[in-house]
Amino acid sequence: MTEKSQTPDTPVARNEAKGWLHNPELPIAMSPLFQWPPSPSAALGWLARSWLQLSSVVIIFTFALIGAWLLPSAETMKTLSPGWVLQIWARHILFLTLVAGGLHFWFITMQGQGEAFKFDPRKQATKNRQFLFNNQVHENVFFSLVSGAGLLAGFEVFYHWIAANGWVPTFTLSFDQPGWLVWFAVALVVIPIWSSLHFYWVHRFLHWPPLYRVAHGLHHKNINVGPWSGVSMHPVEHVLYYSTLLIHLVIPSHPILVVFHACLQNLSPPFSHSGFEQLVVRDKQRMRAGDFFHQLHHRYFECNYGTVDMPWDRWFGSFDNGTAESRTRQQARMIALKRHRQGD
Ligand SMILES: [Zn+2]
Ligand SMILES: [Zn+2]
Repeated sequence: MTEKSQTPDTPVARNEAKGWLHNPELPIAMSPLFQWPPSPSAALGWLARSWLQLSSVVIIFTFALIGAWLLPSAETMKTLSPGWVLQIWARHILFLTLVAGGLHFWFITMQGQGEAFKFDPRKQATKNRQFLFNNQVHENVFFSLVSGAGLLAGFEVFYHWIAANGWVPTFTLSFDQPGWLVWFAVALVVIPIWSSLHFYWVHRFLHWPPLYRVAHGLHHKNINVGPWSGVSMHPVEHVLYYSTLLIHLVIPSHPILVVFHACLQNLSPPFSHSGFEQLVVRDKQRMRAGDFFHQLHHRYFECNYGTVDMPWDRWFGSFDNGTAESRTRQQARMIALKRHRQGD
């Protein structure tokens, strides 16, 4: 079926006509960590681009080190009390405001790089009744800071409380125990991959129509995404999304790993939803920002449920690599999916 034969009121037909302002290099590259046959040099290059140059992961890890340094002592965290609980919530509010607010300020308020590397030509919605306060950004900020930072703080507080009481496996970093140093380094690399795996399955569940109507639809009101859209979710979605942290109840963890994991959940989406592929300052590309893979999900809904870090979408046929052929395949898949849901 061609795009013209779609009914005009479907999201695909409505948005397809608007096109993209910036078309990134296609097809979208997936992580080579899971490619077959394996390519160690490609895999190491991918990891080096994440960890050995300015990237969202490096920035988030820096925030995590500060967050872990600010943690109260284990003795304090043995007992739940408003002082340190509110401190962790305040830290998540501050970090998210610095990252999402900073990106928003540069890309949208200042128009710091104009439209260079901007995917979607549209502006963030104002005077639009489908958003709280009639304003897309204001709604996004509200759900990010109140529900997002709040519930993430709840998960983190729960972890630190049970860890301080010795109810979950933990370890300390010391040169006397090199095995734990190696595990720490491995865990740093594995956490984003685990987060991607968890996100794919939770996200598929969120696209189950009843749950989509109740919860996930709120995030999808953002068809044209911005930095504040990333963590703008319904509280039910927040709980599912942050449940990735429960892995630390079973794997031996260090506080830096847990704070890193928590920060990753809240600070990575402002980059991936920024709407700009590159951050450009003084005519120079400084770092990768937006994620065309997820931008396609916000425009077309039923594709690219995971991230580029794991090939779940490729394995299950929902990968849109951005090319015209891929879009046609996904449209056929979406029509079949709709028919299936309608019981045809
Ligand atoms: Zn999103
Ligand atoms: Zn979705």
